[in-house]
Amino acid sequence: MDAFLDTCRRTIGAAHVLTAASDTAPYLTDWRRRASGKACEVLKPADTEELAALVRLCNEYKVPMVPQGGNTGLVLGSIPDDSGKAVVLSLTRLNRIRQIDPVNNTMTVEAGCILKNIQHAAGEAGRLFPLSLAAEGSCTIGGNLSTNAGGTAVLRYGNTRELCLGLEVVTAQGEIWNGLRGLRKDNTGYDLRDLYIGAEGTLGLITAAVLKLFPQPKAQLTALAALRTPDDALHLLSLAQSYCVSALTGFELMSGFCLKLVNKHFPAMRLPFAEDHAQYVLLELSDSESEEHAQTMLEHVISVAMQHDYIQDAVVARSMAQSQAIWDFREHIPLAQAAEGKNIKHDVSLPISHIGDFIRTTDALLQQAFPGARMVTFGHLGDGNLHYNVAHPEQEAEQSFLENQAAINRIVHDSVHQHDGSISAEHGIGALKRTEILRYKSAVEMQLMHSIKQALDPLNLMNPGKIL
Ligand SMILES: Cc1cc2nc3c(=O)[nH]c(=O)nc-3n(C[C@H](O)[C@H](O)[C@H](O)COP(=O)(O)OP(=O)(O)OC[C@H]3O[C@@H](n4cnc5c(N)ncnc54)[C@H](O)[C@@H]3O)c2cc1C
Repeated sequence: MDAFLDTCRRTIGAAHVLTAASDTAPYLTDWRRRASGKACEVLKPADTEELAALVRLCNEYKVPMVPQGGNTGLVLGSIPDDSGKAVVLSLTRLNRIRQIDPVNNTMTVEAGCILKNIQHAAGEAGRLFPLSLAAEGSCTIGGNLSTNAGGTAVLRYGNTRELCLGLEVVTAQGEIWNGLRGLRKDNTGYDLRDLYIGAEGTLGLITAAVLKLFPQPKAQLTALAALRTPDDALHLLSLAQSYCVSALTGFELMSGFCLKLVNKHFPAMRLPFAEDHAQYVLLELSDSESEEHAQTMLEHVISVAMQHDYIQDAVVARSMAQSQAIWDFREHIPLAQAAEGKNIKHDVSLPISHIGDFIRTTDALLQQAFPGARMVTFGHLGDGNLHYNVAHPEQEAEQSFLENQAAINRIVHDSVHQHDGSISAEHGIGALKRTEILRYKSAVEMQLMHSIKQALDPLNLMNPGKIL
């Protein structure tokens, strides 16, 4: 192992080979601080060539590799196991924006670029890169691509997969594949790009990507509507989509209980309604004409929805500050949940038409099995993605309730499956849901996934123990 370490130091410089526990610790613990692993070292190459040389070295010494970007993933995918045999390959020094082409509406960026910096660079060039999520100040585009991250604008622009035209990849053997094509059409065989996107670092390392850019909207307008049921929210969604078409960029459902928690833990945040309601929806329009145009559209949707009795009350933001205040309710839900205590989280996806039935059925099943359990249900309804989290009954201690995690996961995930949904909408599988997918994916699907892994990484050195 000394020879391996020496060669790593010669390849990328001793300063970028971390071995001291105080240096490696941040790379070995997950974002939520639920788990820590061990690594023989953390390697921080400067560019694609250095990374490829390290991967060839790992092949020679049969050292498992764990790719890492911002380490904000939520399924224990970016940290090693506790064997101490693997290296962490941190991509954060690959952080150059290589090119912006405003005519082709593309930008070419390296994998370690922080998402927020990419949004900013696109904005400087008069364009929009629409991927946006709460971790954007820390997560990297390589991690976003490897988890096919979603975020708040999927309804209009799609997941990260839809925002990527080409990739540069270091294969599991250390070759460099330059697939940095800025093409909207390219039917020349198997789509290798789509294999590496969402692979959570189990097939190779993404080192750069060609991303799609969009015109910047002239105006963004937000509204908050109060409703009775998730089914009413679905009626409102259909109405808003048929009237606003692609201008509808956000449609977030929040249960009344979620906003009660926000109010409890952040008492300065007051909902703009006289009464409490069972459900709320945040709608956002991004308009290519003007603010007045957006205002007219949104007010029309709200007035028709009220006539049909889909909504009880609504407010439309009159300024950026008011828009931000509405988003603040949505963004404070995870913080309020954390302040209330630990809960059992589920990031699930369903056909949009099944969501009302899923919530009704699953709430009832959980109440029957665990009377008093409190469901913190919110999410990107427009994408069929719910965060369906289960908190302890008020009269029961948090710790004893958390011991029911496996039984609660079973009820929720079985219900998701019965409603033709997916047990991981955005966050991936990582090490956390590896055994859980075996229950829901068919033998054929698992066999196809194993065949791909075997073909691209026959030595099983790329992020072993993740997904499969
Ligand atoms: C506060 C918060 C909010 C979030 N909100 C959302 C959200 O709205 N939507 C959503 O989808 N997700 C969300 N996430 C989770 C999301 O997956 C990550 O934030 C992000 O996409 C991961 O990027 P990262 O650079 O941190 O990757 P990491 O956590 O470092 O890695 C994630 C996975 O990708 C692999 N990987 C990383 N870089 C590479 C690379 N260059 N090549 C190959 N494999 C690589 C890792 O091995 C790991 O398996 C959130 C997380 C947090 C903490």
